Amino acid sequence: MNVDIATPSRTKEVIQKYGFSLKKSLGQNFLIDLNVLRKIVGAAELDETKGALEIGPGIGALTQQLAKTAGKVVAVEIDQRLLPILADTLGGYEHVRVVHGDVLKLPLAELFREQFEGVTGVSVVANLPYYVTTPIVMKLLEERLPLENIVVMIQKEVAERMAASPGGKEYGSLSIAVQYYCEPELVTIVPHTVFIPQPNVDSAVIKLKVRKVPPVAVEDERFFFEVVQASFAQRRKTIANNLSAKFFTKETKGALEGILQSCGIEPSRRGETLSIAEYAALSNALRAALR
Ligand code: SAM
Repeated sequence: MNVDIATPSRTKEVIQKYGFSLKKSLGQNFLIDLNVLRKIVGAAELDETKGALEIGPGIGALTQQLAKTAGKVVAVEIDQRLLPILADTLGGYEHVRVVHGDVLKLPLAELFREQFEGVTGVSVVANLPYYVTTPIVMKLLEERLPLENIVVMIQKEVAERMAASPGGKEYGSLSIAVQYYCEPELVTIVPHTVFIPQPNVDSAVIKLKVRKVPPVAVEDERFFFEVVQASFAQRRKTIANNLSAKFFTKETKGALEGILQSCGIEPSRRGETLSIAEYAALSNALRAALR
């Protein structure tokens, strides 16, 4: 069947054939290493009963490997210039559908209903454009799409923040948001030599196993995330000072210490030391007190 796209020679050949100029502004760094692609696809645990949503197929390097494994592949690409190229490189894969659009604007729930009917589970598998990694991952999670897992190549530093535990400098509101919805696992670190052109940051593949239910009981999710955001507003400040600035006035802030202590949290602690369970307890108690 089709020759592998993800080799340096084939990638250069395709780019030259179409006179394609890569756009840095769209995060176009194409993968040219089959071993890395196999690791990504392997981590997604696909088979012919499953579907894969790819974001940003580029010239089809990863799409092709997904097509060899999954029963249905849907690839969303923003750059119209890539559509004829994809029609060529992916010609013959009947179960692959390329959708032109910006993944941040597409109604994904509708796309899932239309495209993945009958599959036993869907994974998002992608080498994400680094300029929009976090908005894309958060959109996938917040829309509560029926996903089994998300396996994505992202900037190493962002992957470390997503997977971080309390206490370290990587741990922050992104860690808590991602871990509220998923169990993260760092799959592999990837050198920048496996891309054309090479990005100037290190990359990592992260697997986010989507939880069926959150790990903690939160009464108001919006408020929970507001509390988390506020707690990291100024990382060097204590939790009491950050929360006081956001939710209390001079007159009411006396109550905060008691609320923190009722949750077993010392007011002098910093936001980066609190676990998700502590944030859940705190946001429930604060919500009750502020109502
Ligand atoms: N999957 C290919 C690979 O691994 O070689 C290309 C990956 S490249 C890092 C990112 C791809 O995402 C590019 O093809 C780019 O045009 C596309 N892209 C960028 N922003 C996008 C968006 N908002 N929605 C959909 N695709 C996007």
